[in-house]
Amino acid sequence: MERTRSWAEPYKIKMVEPVFMTTRKDREKFIREAGYNTFLLKSKDVYIDLLTDSGTSAMSDRQWAGIMMGDEAYAGSENFYHMEEAIQKYYGYKYVIPTHQGRGAEHLISQILIKKGDFVPGNMYFTTTRLHQELAGGTFVDVIIDEAHDSESDFRFKGNVNLEKLETIIKEKGADKIPYVCIATTVNMAGGQPISLENLKEVRKLTHKYNIKIVHDMTRVAENAYMIQQYEKGYKEKSVAEIVKEICLLTDAATMSSKKDALVSIGGFLAVNDPEVFEQARNLVVVYEGLHTYGGMAGRDMEALAIGIKESVQDDHIRARVGQVQYLGEKLKKAGVPIVNPIGTHGVFLDAKKFLPHLTQDMFPAQTLAAEIYVDSGVRTMERGIVSAGRNKTTGAHNYPKLELVRLTIPRRVYTQAHMDVIAESVEYVYNNRATIKGLKMVFEPKYLRFFQARFEKL
Ligand SMILES: *Cc1c(COP(=O)(O)O)cnc(C)c1O
Repeated sequence: MERTRSWAEPYKIKMVEPVFMTTRKDREKFIREAGYNTFLLKSKDVYIDLLTDSGTSAMSDRQWAGIMMGDEAYAGSENFYHMEEAIQKYYGYKYVIPTHQGRGAEHLISQILIKKGDFVPGNMYFTTTRLHQELAGGTFVDVIIDEAHDSESDFRFKGNVNLEKLETIIKEKGADKIPYVCIATTVNMAGGQPISLENLKEVRKLTHKYNIKIVHDMTRVAENAYMIQQYEKGYKEKSVAEIVKEICLLTDAATMSSKKDALVSIGGFLAVNDPEVFEQARNLVVVYEGLHTYGGMAGRDMEALAIGIKESVQDDHIRARVGQVQYLGEKLKKAGVPIVNPIGTHGVFLDAKKFLPHLTQDMFPAQTLAAEIYVDSGVRTMERGIVSAGRNKTTGAHNYPKLELVRLTIPRRVYTQAHMDVIAESVEYVYNNRATIKGLKMVFEPKYLRFFQARFEKL
């Protein structure tokens, strides 16, 4: 008989941070005071925090040692050169501009490449990415495959671009109106779904034909590479590091939120291959972020990032990271809870439309569900639905996205399998009692990225 052997996390725990459970009565009060928005809860009132995987990863002993090696010189910090070297080595881009986080890099590249009246096709939008494109005068165009908008489709590469849609938009608007195509690895808003290398190569061919750049939103590129290794034909024998490099080499520039894949609490960068774009970005960064050798990051943070990049592309690390997410997802699926298929790489996404079919989308089902899960168990999740989708730029009406999701995002190297079990039990409990759940109405709405600060009341 063939022997089966379980795999475990490729680390042991050296330091712990206590978490505390509150009472249901307390949590009802906390969420009411937070306007039923999990972003407005205090972290001390949260038991297990699945709000985001952004900046919430556990750093390794090597990274903490790196923190002590911070060279906080205003210019030319040693740590910047380590970070630059890691980016060139593991991602293959030529020039590096550090930024305080991903949106800092998005701001720079949008201001440099986008002119008023331009169109920016992408494999689904991301909140800050699209906003920076719009603030620069561009209009985002969704060219992801239709399967990405269907939570039931179990197509493996839902991050793929629909090449016909892309070519149609190029022909319709003219290649000179399209500064670049934005390719995200993985696609956060679709549920952490990967793009295949086969599809990316096709996108490269098409964009070459029309002389259009590809800007890579590479926040979770290692997770995307892992899915390619597992599920795309011909990549079983390649390492995650090799696949990461292959993805990056098919693109012209990248924006990175190092707070995700790269295992640090803060930081990001813009990486480009075009020396002219580099010169412009290096000039602009001093206006908005900081000098071109720190860009809003401390020296110590750049050192931790340099080490984090290397750790993030190790096969055993990424298998445990994605494996934990899959474990939680499988558990929920077995319990009959409606989730987005296939299970993504950085979180499990609950399908709030199916979870709460008695609520219409303007009763904010995903917002409601996130609040209910918090009240049940102190587990903090977040909305990815109508609130996140914002309003139409011209009509001012709500955007009604097809996907109305609650995201259970798993921080890297932070929680154990027992935490996953507690989370699954809570979601299952809320699911079994879903009929009694009432919706919300919005009582305060900020102008930009409303999901962060909007407030609600119970209907
Ligand atoms: C987080 C994220 C960003 C923005 O990065 P920040 O570091 O939060 O500014 C951009 N794109 C994607 C896909 C992200 O997940």
